[in-house]
Formats: sequence, structure tokens, C-alpha cells
Amino acid sequence: MRSFAYIRAGSIEEARHAAAQPTVMLLAGGTTLLDLAKCGVAEPEKVVDITHLSGLDEIRVGAEGAFIGALAKMSRVADDPGIRTHFPAIAESLWQAASAQIRNMATIGGNLMQRTRCAYFRDPAAFPACNKRTPGTGCPAIVGITRNHAVLGTSDACIASYPGDLATALVAFDAAVDLGDRRLAVDDFFLLPGTTPDREHALEAGEMITGVTIPASAAARRSTYLKVRDRRSYEFAAASAAVGIELEPDGRTIRDLRVALGGVATKPWRARAVEDALKGQTLAREAVRRASLLAVEGAIDHGGNRYKIDLAPRVVARAILKTGGMA
Ligand code: FAD
Ligand code: SF4
Repeated sequence: MRSFAYIRAGSIEEARHAAAQPTVMLLAGGTTLLDLAKCGVAEPEKVVDITHLSGLDEIRVGAEGAFIGALAKMSRVADDPGIRTHFPAIAESLWQAASAQIRNMATIGGNLMQRTRCAYFRDPAAFPACNKRTPGTGCPAIVGITRNHAVLGTSDACIASYPGDLATALVAFDAAVDLGDRRLAVDDFFLLPGTTPDREHALEAGEMITGVTIPASAAARRSTYLKVRDRRSYEFAAASAAVGIELEPDGRTIRDLRVALGGVATKPWRARAVEDALKGQTLAREAVRRASLLAVEGAIDHGGNRYKIDLAPRVVARAILKTGGMA
């Protein structure tokens, strides 16, 4: 049993001030923090409870887009009529995540900050080496069991996949993470592992997520989140795709297309090559199938995760056809 101090933050400033210390962790829904503390990955000296901070659980949807506060619960966002109408892929990504119990506890800020499900990372007792947990110690996964690992955005130091569903949908629609004093595109918020896989996001000491902003678009309004996994619920994605389409008035030509991949990359992965190949083209099965292969351009497998290179383009193609009303 490890003991730690517990305090309730009285204000955002107090929470941010406390979070400037590396041994302090914020507590929102606790569904990830508790998990990581139990397996020995998180060892905070102090836990700062932010659940009572006011004004951070708002959900606002208007003509310009949506703002979702960091403390809004996953289930409430998934069920929000404005989010469901204007950003169906976002609502679906949340509905398909975790379990009802977890969604009722877990927050949007905590969801973005969840950590990889790499089994080596999550078992320090059995696998002391892990570059993400303890920089410079090596990566046992690269020569180990890699079924759940990434094929895109990997490095020689780490091949762990980013597991979240929400961030995949957010990156497709140019959402930004609000940090109080500054705002970062979701694509820039999450970092590639490179030689520093311990640094997963651009959050600086003393910063916390206050919410996410999603601009309105016709593509977001006509969108889908398709998640393929080993079982129908309570399971992370083997591969997933967030797709949004805007068609020209002729109902066949693609004016705007958004595609992002989950479960296969080290961070939420925007598939711009697929988007560029199909914009201006007629929505047709063969063209979609061919363009979807571009989603895994540059992919590298480590044996056990080779199937993802075949699976991801199929998930992308199915999601595009479904969103376009052809499946
Ligand atoms: P917490 O556990 O409270 O916090 C998580 C981390 O974020 C901590 O490090 C904390 O310090 C930090 N943090 C919290 N809030 C902030 C903030 N505002 N600013 C900065 N840092 C912050 N997720 C999916 O997307 N898809 C799934 O299929 C899925 N399946 C799951 C299955 C299981 C069994 C479990 C346990 C989790 C699963 N999850 C899944 C992850 C789940 O969605 C996250 O645990 C949850 O969203 C975390 O939110 P929380 O509020 O509980 O975060
Ligand atoms: Fe650690 Fe990354 Fe290797 Fe997993 S893949 S063991 S998280 S360094």
C-alpha cells in the first residue's frame, strides 16, 4: 500500500499550481488513474481532486461549433442532442468506448489523457524495462507480443498505440484542446514517440485541460465512427475510423472528406492522403477502396500486428461508404 496526500482543488488556478509539481496528479473520474496506480505505473505523492471545480462540465453547441468542458462526463456528451446532431462521429466514439459504468464516471479531459494499453508498460513488476515508463531502459514489446501495438507513427524506442476513441474523432474534425491560456490543435497536442516516448502530449507543467473546441462543418454533421474490436463492447479498437463527408449538390461528388484512424497509430492519426485522393472525386466503391489503402502508407509491422495493415484500410473504406450512404 502506497500512501499519498489528497486535496480538493478550490479553483482552476489552485489545480494548475499544484499540477506544476511532477509528483502531483489530477483526479477527475479516476477510471484511468486508479487503474495505473493499482498496476504501479502511477505513483503520485499527491492527488488533486478537480471534480468539484465549477464551469468545467459545460456542453455548448452553436452555429460556430461546440465547446465541451473537461469535466463533462463521457455519457452526457454522448447523449447530448446537439453533439449527436452536429457531430455524430463524436457521440458514437464515446458510446463505443469502455462500459456504461466507466462512461458515467469518466470525463472528457481524463479520456484524452488516458495512457497506452501496452501490456509491458502496464506491468512494471514483470517488465521493468519500458522507454515510455523509464526512459532509456529499452522496449520489450518490439521483440515481444505485438498484436495490440501500432503500425503507424512508431519509432525504434516505442510502438505503443494510442487507445482512445474520442481523440480519433476529434482529430478528424480539426478540434482543439483548450488549456486555459492557450489552445492547441488535437493533432499538435499529441506527440509522436520519437526518441522520447515518455512525452505523450504537449501539456506543460502547471497546465490542465479545460475543454475541447470543435468547429462546425458539413463534414462533421454527416459523420460516422466505426470501431472494429475483438468483442462488441468493453474493448479497445483493433482499428477504428472517424469519417465525415460533405457532398456537392449533385449528391455524388465529394466536396470535403475527413478521415482519422484509431487503434493503429501511436497518436490519433489523420489520414490526409485518403482525403486528398477522394476530394473532388465521385463517391464510388472502387475509388474508395483504392484510396483507403493510402491510410496505411508508411506502416511498419512487428509480426503480431501485421493484420492491422490489412484491416485499417477496410475499416476506412467501410466507414466512408457507410457515411456516404452506400453501405
Ligand atoms: P482520470 O482517471 O481521473 O484521469 C486520467 C489522467 O488524466 C490522469 O493522469 C489525470 O491526472 C489526468 N487528467 C484528468 N483530467 C485532466 C485535466 N482536465 N487536465 C489534465 N489532466 C487531466 N477509452 C476509450 O476511449 N475507449 C475504450 O474502449 C475504453 N475502454 C476502457 C476499458 C476499461 C476497462 C477502462 C478502465 C478504461 C477504458 N477506456 C477506454 C479509458 C477511459 O475512457 C478512461 O479511463 C477515462 O476516459 C478517463 O477519464 P477519467 O475522468 O476517469 O480520468
Ligand atoms: Fe514501453 Fe512503448 Fe515499448 Fe510498450 S511499446 S514496452 S510502452 S516503450
